[in-house]
Amino acid sequence: MRQTSSASPARQIKLKSPREIGFMRDAGRLVAQALDRVKQLAVPGSTTAEMDEAVESLFREHDAIPLFRNYPNSQRGKPAFPAVICASVNEAVVHGIPNRRPLKEGDVVSIDTGCRLNGWCGDAAVTLPIGEVEPDVLKLLQVTKDTLDLAVRAMGRCRTWSEVAGLMEQYVKSQGMAVVEKFVGHGIGQAMHEEPQVPNFVSKALRKNDIRLEPGLVLAIEPMVALGTKNVDVLGDHWTVVTKDRRFSAHFEHTVAMTIDGPIILTLLED
Ligand code: MG
Repeated sequence: MRQTSSASPARQIKLKSPREIGFMRDAGRLVAQALDRVKQLAVPGSTTAEMDEAVESLFREHDAIPLFRNYPNSQRGKPAFPAVICASVNEAVVHGIPNRRPLKEGDVVSIDTGCRLNGWCGDAAVTLPIGEVEPDVLKLLQVTKDTLDLAVRAMGRCRTWSEVAGLMEQYVKSQGMAVVEKFVGHGIGQAMHEEPQVPNFVSKALRKNDIRLEPGLVLAIEPMVALGTKNVDVLGDHWTVVTKDRRFSAHFEHTVAMTIDGPIILTLLED
């Protein structure tokens, strides 16, 4: 969860040591476990509130701090985020608030969550189909996941993030879909949101101030893809971001560390 903001002055990227990346792997594994629990609840009739409770109790069992609850609203005076997960259904792109409405066959739900474990953060998201979904929606999920996977692979051979972002953007376009540009990925470490901003497209700010892909860089990479327009609205709850045309969108995210041996996904269950 991070909105694009105007370029920050004197960007401070904090590179992590192998030992610190090890701590982040522990946090990342717990986030992966959380999403795995959610997957088991992704059936018709279950609710996003139940998913939220499942993740909250897992984090509690491990003495991990949920990162999303009480996250301040970017709109002044509006409520902080009330839950441990973001649950964004169908046309919702990101930042949906869990609720007691039963999910139904044909829905998709994007679940995003993060925690801090022993001082270090992990952040990941998946979009899950509920029962059988329309073929174009299934393709949307696959394209979004493939965009994340190709970005991680490309980090191993590209020198800068703009090269990776260009490949992501190109791939999504080639599939007749659109990258949502209003939100971007981010650096992550002891804080959930660190420098730099990590767009899923080649932004002007990125062209001016590119990110060198060097060992110790840890990024939360999170493509958001829409079937129709890339433009979005924020609903009256001051959080839920939906596509302007209300067509479906998807969101996948991993926390990824650059090492001397190449990129490593930290938010996986197994090595
Ligand atoms: Mg994130």
